[in-house]
Amino acid sequence: MKYCRFLYGGQTLYGAVDTRSGSLQIVGLTEVPEEDPHFRLAHGRASSFNYSFEPIPLSEADLLTPVTPSKIVCVGHNYREHVRELGNEMPTEPLLFFKPPSSLLRPGGAVVLPAASERVDFEGELAIVIGRRTRNLKPEDDWREVVRGFTLANDISARDFQKKDGQWARAKGFDTFCPVGPFVSDELDIENGVTIETRVNGELRQQASTRDMIFPVPVLLRCISAVFTLEPGDLILTGTPSGVGPLKPGDRVEVSIDGLGALANTVEAEAV
Ligand code: ZN
Repeated sequence: MKYCRFLYGGQTLYGAVDTRSGSLQIVGLTEVPEEDPHFRLAHGRASSFNYSFEPIPLSEADLLTPVTPSKIVCVGHNYREHVRELGNEMPTEPLLFFKPPSSLLRPGGAVVLPAASERVDFEGELAIVIGRRTRNLKPEDDWREVVRGFTLANDISARDFQKKDGQWARAKGFDTFCPVGPFVSDELDIENGVTIETRVNGELRQQASTRDMIFPVPVLLRCISAVFTLEPGDLILTGTPSGVGPLKPGDRVEVSIDGLGALANTVEAEAV
């Protein structure tokens, strides 16, 4: 199952995504996930839009972030090569931080470089989408039962503030610093590892297997749910591989994984 969230005829809709004639298309409408109260407030019951739908190419859809999370939990320093490139110690347990929901940015939207920062980096990441309220996941529990699927994220980071500040709320939390999408899929073979790639203006900058994570998906779910109650639609950004680097106005940054499509965003300077 693959689904996206998009604007169509002035309405926010959820679309089933599938490959038709070799390209990704929105082939029909699908249920509203339970975490989206704004949808119900604005549009009434989900059944009211259950009309027939002419397939449209995903690339031509007006996509929104596929989820509306109550929180975005992030993992720092989760790939060995990235820990080395930052000159940090190898972690013995996951390093957790938050990005605020106000930092979310839709696929295709512009990352705004804050005038106050001198260095803003891309960080391509695999993101976990929670499917069921979860607290204290145990090793004997099946982690797949609490995961709705996976999507792509870009953990945009103001590196100068990250170095200067003891807490990363500012460095990681600016508006537009969390592009997510283009869709959620539960068809990813995460046990065998998938290759994550990040390109800037078409040039390959990050490439790694998710098997290189220091703390893999089931371990992250156990550690994080031991602290927070995870709600449906919540996101876990699983960390970035090596190869991070700065963005400048006019850049186009694209994160991709086979089976999750590509999350592409433009970059612009803050208007001051
Ligand atoms: Zn990150």
